[in-house]
Amino acid sequence: MTKTLAPSEDFLQSLKQLVGPSGWQHPDDAARYLDDPRGYVRGKAALIVLPSNVEEVSEIVRLCAQSRIGIVPYGGGTGLVSGQIVPENDHAIILSLERMNAIRSIDPDNDSMVVEAGCILMDIQNAAQDANRLFPLSLASEGSCRIGGNLATNAGGIQVIRYGNARDLCLGIEAVLPDGTIYNGLSPLRKDNTGYDLRHLLIGSEGTLGIITAASLKLFPKPQSSSTAFCALPSPSHAISLLNFCREAMGDTVSAFELMCSEGMDVLAQHFPKERHPFNGEYSWFALIEIAGSPSIEEKFETVLMEAFENELLLDSVVASSSAQSQALWRLRELMADANKLGGVFCSSDTSVPKNRVGEFIKMTDAAILELNPDLIINKYGHMGDGNLHFNVFPPKGIGKDEFMEANPTTQEDVRRIINDMTHKLHGSISGEHGIGRLKTADLQRYGDPVKIAVMKSIKMGLDPDNIMNPGAIFSN
Ligand SMILES: Cc1cc2nc3c(=O)[nH]c(=O)nc-3n(C[C@H](O)[C@H](O)[C@H](O)COP(=O)(O)OP(=O)(O)OC[C@H]3O[C@@H](n4cnc5c(N)ncnc54)[C@H](O)[C@@H]3O)c2cc1C
Repeated sequence: MTKTLAPSEDFLQSLKQLVGPSGWQHPDDAARYLDDPRGYVRGKAALIVLPSNVEEVSEIVRLCAQSRIGIVPYGGGTGLVSGQIVPENDHAIILSLERMNAIRSIDPDNDSMVVEAGCILMDIQNAAQDANRLFPLSLASEGSCRIGGNLATNAGGIQVIRYGNARDLCLGIEAVLPDGTIYNGLSPLRKDNTGYDLRHLLIGSEGTLGIITAASLKLFPKPQSSSTAFCALPSPSHAISLLNFCREAMGDTVSAFELMCSEGMDVLAQHFPKERHPFNGEYSWFALIEIAGSPSIEEKFETVLMEAFENELLLDSVVASSSAQSQALWRLRELMADANKLGGVFCSSDTSVPKNRVGEFIKMTDAAILELNPDLIINKYGHMGDGNLHFNVFPPKGIGKDEFMEANPTTQEDVRRIINDMTHKLHGSISGEHGIGRLKTADLQRYGDPVKIAVMKSIKMGLDPDNIMNPGAIFSN
């Protein structure tokens, strides 16, 4: 891939003039753009530009294209594979969409809305709710991540099992292409077979093919009622049986099905002692289930859980009796990423496998990691309903992350390799939902399909021959 150039002072000055005084920040005054949520790397930037409309984005990109300056698009900065981080050896500018945060329109009769890329996901959910509709994309980072970032990473989250991932929720895209051209594809249509679908090319491209500036999104009827249950299970394989049982009885009303384990609950209890564990540490595996639909659904769900208990699919269950209780149960899941970080996790994965092989995947991967070092602590959790699991590995009890990594310099890579090899063996993906970013470029080359990679590279070369769009993401420089 072509190397981009370092911007001159004159070039940066012309960008500053273009966006005006409130449209840029010096990196020394804006540390948050350089932070990685997991704390693995620290970034830099030649300048942070904050355009306020699509024309400004277009002009910035045009100037960068003329001078071969790299651009790293930036949403909420919550990406977990460092796609939004400018590495030490690069000179790119950061282009943040945060000032482009208008909800342009809501059309409840067409079940659609048009939003700018810098809208925070939670604001979109709330706007849909105010129009008596549901925008179902939901992730623990929803208070900070922005829809442009969600689409650029094709984010998943907790309701994929029912509504699909970000790609499935998007009707159209407005984007600035690598030469500065504005593509206006903000279609409100559900059917449009007029050749290649540029929307789907841009979704999941992690900022390497263009900058998403706005999106047309699908809305759904708002469920009238919902119910949350936390169930204790004998094993992950029982989780799959329980999921199938619930779906057979309740159809598509199963909106979320998350797996958690006792090791994760222990890490959580250590760092968030105020959160209540529903079962006081008695069991090893748990499923957090959300059902949403008509008002009678809660009663039906309780009957189904009772039947599941009688069929020995679960050991115990608690059902939230208020929205406060439901939120408390969901917090156990949502705080897991923070608990991992505080607990000194040194390796985190984002595997997806066919969901009927999750039990096998966990058993074999666990055994292989513990063979490496039987004292390692492994927190396995994730979106079980999509076969998407996060393995998080910690040093043995009482040993800090830095101390452990220093004494065991190869363990992190060994553990990563075990998880990825097992994923590959089971025909899974090394990135279920987070993307490739800069952290997984080598893994993509190692495990990815060579034909797919070659086609991806030729698309990249065709649209962005000077490699100015997020250089080093997906394909290393
Ligand atoms: C606590 C926590 C929980 C999470 N849970 C989930 C989860 O359940 N499911 C999931 O999928 N992810 C999850 N994530 C990861 C992250 O939130 C998602 O990847 C999210 O979609 C990133 O959005 P963002 O706005 O923060 O993007 P950023 O981090 O700013 O950017 C991510 C990537 O998209 C590119 N990008 C950003 N905006 C644009 C744009 N407008 N146009 C083109 N490219 C752009 C960036 O260059 C970068 O490559 C979680 C993260 C955290 C911290």
